[in-house]
Amino acid sequence: MPSDRVAVSSPAMIPLSAPRFGGREWAYLKGCLDSGWVSSASPLVEQFEQAIARRVGAPHAVAVASGTAALHVALQVAGVQPDDEVLVPALTFIAPVNAIRYCRAHPVFVDADPETWQMRVGPVARFLAQGCERRGEGCYNRRTGRRVRALLPVHLLGLSGAMDQWVALAREYGLAVVEDAAEGIGVRYQGRHVGTWGDVGILSFNGNKTITCGGGGMLLTANPEAAARARYLTTQAKDDPLESFHREVGYNYRLPGLQAALGLAQLEQLDGFLAAKRALAAEYGLALRGVPGVSGMPTPPDTEAAYWLYTVLLPEGTTIARRRAIVAALRRRGVEARPLWCPAPLLPPYADCQTLGLDMVHQLHARAVSLPSSVGLTREELATCVAALRQAMSDP
Ligand SMILES: *Cc1c(COP(=O)(O)O)cnc(C)c1O
Repeated sequence: MPSDRVAVSSPAMIPLSAPRFGGREWAYLKGCLDSGWVSSASPLVEQFEQAIARRVGAPHAVAVASGTAALHVALQVAGVQPDDEVLVPALTFIAPVNAIRYCRAHPVFVDADPETWQMRVGPVARFLAQGCERRGEGCYNRRTGRRVRALLPVHLLGLSGAMDQWVALAREYGLAVVEDAAEGIGVRYQGRHVGTWGDVGILSFNGNKTITCGGGGMLLTANPEAAARARYLTTQAKDDPLESFHREVGYNYRLPGLQAALGLAQLEQLDGFLAAKRALAAEYGLALRGVPGVSGMPTPPDTEAAYWLYTVLLPEGTTIARRRAIVAALRRRGVEARPLWCPAPLLPPYADCQTLGLDMVHQLHARAVSLPSSVGLTREELATCVAALRQAMSDP
């Protein structure tokens, strides 16, 4: 049970990740209201899609109501069918795992890489080579007999996984790659923006993400048919809008114009936000040298990271109970710290799913703590957070 569930932040706390509205948000929202274009039919939606597509270097971008909705549709356009299997990190925010279930497919959970904290390549390569067999076009799990259809790497915490290796594995075994870059706007791997390596990628503009629409998401793809199909599915699968004819079951997943207005204004500030996040990560790295036994966040190789939430690793041997006490002590001192996500295989809906090693996932669950990482965090606040951590660590 979620006994490490914590009280929501009080205004007195230094927040974990607060949005900043310092650009043309008011002007664009007023433009929406003045013109009457507030719905997803607003021209701002297409403007936002094009602006994101240019920014990340994706040929097509489809705006959707949330990152979770984007994942649901991304898996469908990538060809995931009921009873298929999808490889996904065991340690992640739950949305990508739930999206697999929305497709009536099955997650297979993968350990985290000790160096990068992202989905670990080795166990997946071994599973595909030894735990699966090729039949015709497909790759089938020997244990369950189900078809393995896709890899779903998640770019956790504004870092990146080894996308060249995921793409190579997918090619070798005939799998699709769906990339969850919800936490990854501004992250590049080998110079290429995350979310544009796979067949389909997604971004999120939820309130706590690097840029926000309040709520919203974007589906990215280089494939024009995938983009068209995503547009179709997210607008109720309308074949004939006048006669209301639908060949398939669609969704109302489009992004409203009001949210696109906010997103456009936020996107204009992204460079400044990223610079602030990177400066904050460097500063945390230095300050943490004064906290014995605690290590800072990794920067994976070949990665231009965005450090969405700056996350530290408590000393080896730290138990979940001890980490809970440290997080509680930080919060008592006005620092909105939080642990990483409960590993998905420990959650009741996913307890029966296959796992490919969980050693590092358990380490991160017990030892990782995210610290305040808002764009507007001041040097004084950062010093307060680190001092509070030092204090909490020395408490018995
Ligand atoms: C936030 C997040 C999502 C979901 O985004 P919403 O816009 O909140 O639906 C998906 N995956 C990851 C890893 C996230 O952090």
